[in-house]
Amino acid sequence: MHVPKSHPRYESLKKREKIIDGMKAGIVAEAGLIAHGRGEAFDYLIGERTIPEAELAEKIAAYHLIMAKHPVISVNGNTAVLVPDELVKLSELLPANLEINLFYRSEKRVRIIAELLIKHGAKKVLGEKPDATIPGLEHKRGVCSEEGTMRADVILIPLEDGDRAMALKKMGKTVIAIDLNPLSRTSKAANITIVDDVVRAMPRIIEDIKRAREKGLGKEVMKGDIEAFDNSKNLICTLKRIKNGDLSLY
Ligand code: ATP
Ligand code: MG
Repeated sequence: MHVPKSHPRYESLKKREKIIDGMKAGIVAEAGLIAHGRGEAFDYLIGERTIPEAELAEKIAAYHLIMAKHPVISVNGNTAVLVPDELVKLSELLPANLEINLFYRSEKRVRIIAELLIKHGAKKVLGEKPDATIPGLEHKRGVCSEEGTMRADVILIPLEDGDRAMALKKMGKTVIAIDLNPLSRTSKAANITIVDDVVRAMPRIIEDIKRAREKGLGKEVMKGDIEAFDNSKNLICTLKRIKNGDLSLY
């Protein structure tokens, strides 16, 4: 379907197309369509833009990623079709491992996603040969790689399931979630919750990292900002913003 750029829902319709094409290509699980729809609903509530609370969380996430010893970026089907270039860019910039972690894991889907990331420039993608399990999760959902998730001190989890997010937190990792639903279990469990669309959040995190490095921000400065950040407070501010609403038409 051809959607003119002038259409007010252009960006949203483009994303839908990517998700649907991704499902047809075996990258996105059928349930991934429903997850996307839930995300869209919350995106409407925040005005389909990056709100100040997300901007702050993105900056704090960038600082954590810069200072991490073993940062890992977790990839699922929806994320892979929506932001493949940014996933690769971020993994190279840090550097960080890319690891495919699927809720509906099938060897075939993992392979197709790895191929997609490689096509977009990734030199290495973990997840095809899991050799570890996250404690407290049923086997299929808990498999991961020793070199990636298991060893990670900071893990970025766009669109993650609540159980896994909680299990990763219990392992003592710093969990950064990107989730449009501020009330999901993932959002509540994470150390840093970015309530923003992954399509807007990823480029912003990349820019925040570049900016911090260009400015030569010291560790002490970044640590100070990290310590001053209160995730629950940030989520409450997000919910207040939603509650207050915005009835103006753009
Ligand atoms: P939880 O298990 O954390 O309580 P859930 O089961 O509702 O939440 P899942 O279906 O496991 O959530 O994961 C999808 C989540 O990702 C939803 O919370 C949805 O709002 C969010 N989401 C979907 N698409 C996007 C997107 N493009 N950007 C950011 N978040 C998204
Ligand atoms: Mg869930």
